[in-house]
Amino acid sequence: MTAHDRELVIVSLYPRDMNIYGDRGNVLALSRRARAHGYAPVVVEVNPGDPLPDRVDIVIGGGGQDSGQGRVARDLQARASEMRALASDGTPMLMICGLYQLFGHRFVTHTGDELAGIGVLDVETRGGTERMIGNIVLDSAEFGEIVGYENHSGNTRLGPGSEPLGTVRQGAGNNPDDGLEGARTGNVIGSYLHGSLLPKNPAISDFLIGEAARRRYGSFAPAAQEDGGETVRRARESAKRRPR
Ligand code: GLN
Repeated sequence: MTAHDRELVIVSLYPRDMNIYGDRGNVLALSRRARAHGYAPVVVEVNPGDPLPDRVDIVIGGGGQDSGQGRVARDLQARASEMRALASDGTPMLMICGLYQLFGHRFVTHTGDELAGIGVLDVETRGGTERMIGNIVLDSAEFGEIVGYENHSGNTRLGPGSEPLGTVRQGAGNNPDDGLEGARTGNVIGSYLHGSLLPKNPAISDFLIGEAARRRYGSFAPAAQEDGGETVRRARESAKRRPR
């Protein structure tokens, strides 16, 4: 089989409304990494009203302002059963910040408006009065050290149906007090980490690509350098700096 045959369809969910702090970089980094592993990534942008492609191998979604979340929340409800079916079938997904919140049960804004989520992740978010802003470092049993940047006022709590993505070494994470960041149910990951996340954390790209390849082609043989090389190492170091 040639690389051309080994297509992977990456759905970029709501890039128009949910693309803050360079979350689009996740789609670029993932495509590049997929190519390095010998796959042919095909990116399909899905905005409100657009159909999902027939074949979906990976779904990536970003963050946005509360107003952007309002715009996409209703559309997401209309696709809830389709998304839940893809998730329970093992489709790898990465949802950042605003879409992380909407992949949970609900997001209640600090003014008391409730946006219903689709409950793929067992989390619930309430808007707080303080923003959690800055570089953040996590420890994860599966991915090792994860670095990124957070900027949110939502306080997220995990239910028993989701594991955290990691524990917080530096920064806030899901909320200011329980020391946990992100959520994971099956192959779906939610996280507050922008940065963008994937260019600095190739292990998470490899997880998404590996699960997608196994699901579609039955196996995954990594071909790219595990740590992403010198550029990635430098980007990770600067991402860990604390403000002076
Ligand atoms: N409105 C959300 C919050 O501040 C999401 C922010 C974001 O996506 N950056 O909690």
